[in-house]
Amino acid sequence: MSPTEIHQQHRQHQPVIPTETDVVVVGAGIAGLCAAIASAERGAQVVVVDAHTAGGRASSTERDGFRLNLGGHALYRRGHLANLLTTHAICPAGGVVDGTTIGVLRDGEVHRVVMGPIGLLRNPVLRSRSRLRMAALFARLPRLDPAGLTGRSVADWLGDEPDDVRQFMEMFIRLATYTNAPGIFDAGAAVIQLKMAMGGVLYVDGGWGLLVAALRRLATDAGAIVVDHAEVRAVRCDATPGSRVEVQLGDRMIIAGAVVVSAGGPDTAERLTGAAVANRQTLTAPITASCLDLAVRRVEVGLVLGMDEPVYLSPHAPLANLAPAGHDLISLMRYLVPGEAAGDAGTVHAGLLTVARLAGVSDDDVVFERLLHRMVVTHGAPTASGGGLAGRPTIHALGLPGVLVAADWVGPSGLLADASSTSGEQAGIAAARLCANINR
Ligand SMILES: Cc1cc2nc3c(=O)[nH]c(=O)nc-3n(C[C@H](O)[C@H](O)[C@H](O)COP(=O)(O)OP(=O)(O)OC[C@H]3O[C@@H](n4cnc5c(N)ncnc54)[C@H](O)[C@@H]3O)c2cc1C
Repeated sequence: MSPTEIHQQHRQHQPVIPTETDVVVVGAGIAGLCAAIASAERGAQVVVVDAHTAGGRASSTERDGFRLNLGGHALYRRGHLANLLTTHAICPAGGVVDGTTIGVLRDGEVHRVVMGPIGLLRNPVLRSRSRLRMAALFARLPRLDPAGLTGRSVADWLGDEPDDVRQFMEMFIRLATYTNAPGIFDAGAAVIQLKMAMGGVLYVDGGWGLLVAALRRLATDAGAIVVDHAEVRAVRCDATPGSRVEVQLGDRMIIAGAVVVSAGGPDTAERLTGAAVANRQTLTAPITASCLDLAVRRVEVGLVLGMDEPVYLSPHAPLANLAPAGHDLISLMRYLVPGEAAGDAGTVHAGLLTVARLAGVSDDDVVFERLLHRMVVTHGAPTASGGGLAGRPTIHALGLPGVLVAADWVGPSGLLADASSTSGEQAGIAAARLCANINR
């Protein structure tokens, strides 16, 4: 059976993996699905294989009527992923986070802070002489040129500010970037992401699993075959441009014109290909967090951010439709320093539960809880010494002709899922081009 016939059969729901194709995408998370869409839309025959089920860290699950993401997830409304969905006529429903009033945890107490120029001038967690500086810093932010801060760390950028102003600003940088590493994190990347967050974030109705399902549908509608539970063991190619790439899957092999490795972190990309990721040293160690989801009876709590502790609490439902009637879903997180161990699960759990109680959640409100002890949020953040976003490994970082890489640590733009979707799309376009050249 020719590859064309196999692709046609698969579109009629026959799960056949062809032995030859134009593009193989390894990993069907956000990066892999975006790569598949871009390649397939450019006429390439695409096979996407995932060791588990499509979605990766953007998956969500259902329990007792609650929809749980893998830790609190927010879609940046001005980000690449939201834009890619919109250009494909997919407009996710959900609730936009209202940041006009927030709770700030400091010295073991939650203080109500009204954001905006007037509110900041009365900010109860800042000393009176710091309030004007903070208000001025926020007012400057929309016009601040990130390029001027690239190559400087967040700590260096905020180094002249009073301690309370610095802590307050770092709290928002953690929120927008998930990165708790002011000493090394690039200030240019932080400012880009702060501006992105100011453009609004959406908690998605039904969970991120619906975004994954929409991306998967776009990929299959464009002709791609998406195969779950198919682990790739190795990706082999020689150094001759134009030569075919072998993808080893357990007991079978696919020969491809090009391969996109979108299987998570740089360690996996190196293990599968045997190549070294160029510029890996420009990244931090993986950015990790401990997450606690609380399925609760309806309770009035708002967003709480830790100023002197790297913690987050946010009611994702009722803002998004993620909980059954009369119930809410609260996500908590402790942002770990890159390389920091999470600590034992009991201590992590107790610490996050204390934050929930301080925010006003009583133990009787909790229907069930789920602790994700240590999650990799992103496999590496841009550092100041590495040149910020522009210094990150590129889609060609493996240095193998015909093998591209896409993930949340790849490429010169975006963080988190936006980096995955951007690099995925770029790698998918490059893979389709390579195949068009080979087939010519
Ligand atoms: C707690 C938490 C909160 C987050 N919050 C946000 C947020 O608010 N906003 C945001 O934009 N992003 C957020 N993120 C980040 C976002 O989820 C990730 O950046 C994104 O989902 C990564 O997608 P990916 O495709 O690059 O990688 P992954 O999702 O890791 O996908 C890799 C895929 O490759 C597969 N795979 C691995 N090895 C193989 C193999 N050998 N063969 C075949 N398949 C393989 C895996 O099964 C997986 O499906 C958060 C992440 C976490 C953990």
